[in-house]
Amino acid sequence: MKLAVIGAGIIGITTAWELASDGHEVTVFERRGAAAEESSFANAGVIAPGYVTPWAAPGMPAKVIGHLLGRHAPVRLSLPLTGSELAWMWKWWRACKLETYMANRARLQRLAFYSRQRLHQITADQQLEYDRSSGYMVLLRAETDARMVEPGLQVLRDAGVAFRQVGSDEARKLEPALNPHTPFLGAIHLPDDEVANCRQFALLLKAQAQQSGVSFEFNKAVAHLDLAQPATFLIAGETAQRRFDAVVLCAGLHSAALLGPLGIKIPMAAVYGYSISASIREPLNAPRSALMDERYKVAISRLGNRVRVAGSAEIGGAVDKKRASSLQTLYKVLQDWFPGAAQTSNSAAHVQEWKGARPMLPDGPPILGASGLPGLWLNLGHGSSGWALSCGSARVISDLIAARTPEIDMEGLGMDRLHRPAR
Ligand SMILES: Cc1cc2nc3c(=O)[nH]c(=O)nc-3n(C[C@H](O)[C@H](O)[C@H](O)COP(=O)(O)OP(=O)(O)OC[C@H]3O[C@@H](n4cnc5c(N)ncnc54)[C@H](O)[C@@H]3O)c2cc1C
Repeated sequence: MKLAVIGAGIIGITTAWELASDGHEVTVFERRGAAAEESSFANAGVIAPGYVTPWAAPGMPAKVIGHLLGRHAPVRLSLPLTGSELAWMWKWWRACKLETYMANRARLQRLAFYSRQRLHQITADQQLEYDRSSGYMVLLRAETDARMVEPGLQVLRDAGVAFRQVGSDEARKLEPALNPHTPFLGAIHLPDDEVANCRQFALLLKAQAQQSGVSFEFNKAVAHLDLAQPATFLIAGETAQRRFDAVVLCAGLHSAALLGPLGIKIPMAAVYGYSISASIREPLNAPRSALMDERYKVAISRLGNRVRVAGSAEIGGAVDKKRASSLQTLYKVLQDWFPGAAQTSNSAAHVQEWKGARPMLPDGPPILGASGLPGLWLNLGHGSSGWALSCGSARVISDLIAARTPEIDMEGLGMDRLHRPAR
């Protein structure tokens, strides 16, 4: 088939790759000048399927409210919120019910474990070399943090994830550069989880996809999808429509705007986050892999010869308006745990400060599958875990397009979930 993929973030690239592997003729349309320039640009890179859980969870609304006023709050609202942001929050609040959370968690984890398997397979088959390291550690500063992670540990047990609760001495053996002057209670160590550079992987897989015959058209923004003719769309600035046998929409946050005029309402919101990336000054002072500061919900990742610190969840505002206090929290957490690891002193020259949007649906899982309109397929709404979910999502959508049964149960991962009353 002659297929179009809209969007060249991690979801679009992996999708194009899988479709080409199935023998289709694939063209990717991307409004930016290169791949992975938006949400997939500088994320934390964590791949920890046991921790891929919905942010709509019981007790979350109270936690969010409790955090709002703190100086280093992990969650923030940029007021005033728009009507659609308020509507999204209402849906999110409703999805926090235990039963809904449990169903969405099972859906997400099914996809996340499958996705990690696919990622490893592609990496091995294509001999891709990108910055990655194994192991993930959740740092617990004090008893309150240990209490906070307790329900999550049951989730890990239920999912059969290997983990150990370790004291601070053992945590320091696993990560010898942890600041000796920062006291802490202990950590949860997950040896099978990992961190890897999402953008690097996307660029490498893009090159492989090109070799397999995928065409990329950059600086081409899809202006609108044609409702009257299947799999047909107009590129901004062009007069003739582009027509295909089918289109897969992987436009991240912008997907909802393209679908709205077709009568498909997707409740997507931008949940902004930040990262700082800096060159390692002294490898002995740097982390070996990925860590999560449970109190501040900030991840510290080793990505080759750089350290990346990422966190914050901000609803409202805009991607080009960086909040100084959110960035300060990242510097503080890095300083607390790995002082001197990275060249952060002459700020602008050495540090890449980034704000990105998580394309988030209120209840958690993405939407994968048929849109309901002929020839239009959806692979979108991967929220806080798009990197961890990408390779599995791409394989699943390719199987569906080929009318094959995917290797995982697709219950609740398609459009039908949005039309059902929340459980
Ligand atoms: C601070 C932060 C930390 C994160 N940490 C992690 C993590 O540790 N692990 C993890 O798994 N995930 C993480 N994520 C989430 C992850 O980055 C996202 O889920 C993922 O990047 C989404 O990928 P995407 O391809 O859907 O979106 P994008 O990367 O945004 O790609 C969509 C593409 O579509 C293009 N596009 C949009 N509209 C059009 C149009 N009309 N025409 C043509 N092209 C168009 C865009 O330009 C863009 O390139 C994090 C996110 C943030 C912000």
